[in-house]
Amino acid sequence: MRRQILLAYTHAGFHALLFALLCAGMTVLGWLSQWAILYGLAAGLGAAYGGWWLRRWLRLERALRSPLPQTWRAVLERIPLYAGMGPDERERFELLVRLFLARHRFEGVDGAIPTEERRLLVAAGAAALLFGRPYRGLPHTPTILFYPGPFDEQFRIHRRGPFWGQVHGQGPVLLSLPAVESEWFCRDGQNLVLHELAHLLDLDSHGADGIPRDLPPALVRRWRLCLGEIQEAIRKGQSPLRPYAATHPAECFAVSVEAFFEIPHTLARAHPQWYALLSEYFQLDPRRWLNAEEEADPFWNT
Ligand SMILES: [Zn+2]
Repeated sequence: MRRQILLAYTHAGFHALLFALLCAGMTVLGWLSQWAILYGLAAGLGAAYGGWWLRRWLRLERALRSPLPQTWRAVLERIPLYAGMGPDERERFELLVRLFLARHRFEGVDGAIPTEERRLLVAAGAAALLFGRPYRGLPHTPTILFYPGPFDEQFRIHRRGPFWGQVHGQGPVLLSLPAVESEWFCRDGQNLVLHELAHLLDLDSHGADGIPRDLPPALVRRWRLCLGEIQEAIRKGQSPLRPYAATHPAECFAVSVEAFFEIPHTLARAHPQWYALLSEYFQLDPRRWLNAEEEADPFWNT
């Protein structure tokens, strides 16, 4: 699987290198013709692009080849999702964690330090979202920005700030540390990391509408219908999803993703059709890793 992942994430670079070789050949063949300069130019551009990708490929290859440090495994083992996996599944999860860490930069604001554990807790979210469909990838937002607490509209740290996390299409993913550090370990259907990364699947140049960009067309109609029904159920107090999910279809999707990976048994009982759709999209059923008895559902029947 390591090889397929490497190819999936860097195939554009190989195409560029092939293109460069082809153009170089044409340059030599057409040396005396009027097109030689154009061919040469195309060869140079292709080689530059291919070379840039080749560097990425080598970096990824190195990251995926090196054995998982024991300290990393100790952090991952505290995450219920990973703890419930068998050896092969763990190996795939670890590969995706390393892939995410190799492709993203982590920075901190106002003294928030991107420690190894914090970076792993974010990478685990990406690994969960990609586990069943590892070759799709998340839209590339290169930087993860840690905040020491919630923040306001001007991105100032504020004890009562309305934001714990935020996603920008081409920009950074903002994550507040208290949520990053605690929410994997309490299975109440709230998980900031999963929530914000789920928005990445959905965001495009027109914003987010709750429908992932790579959703198979055959699922779109049912998906849209389900989103509407779920929001209605939330408004009537007939859903385990928290009320925030009813504010917008994109929030409904992101909150559902949190529940899908944290309280899958509760979600499947409450909204079986929606759960089946999410399973089809993510190509997995997290119930096989997570114990039903450990699910907390504070929003249910309230
Ligand atoms: Zn959101």
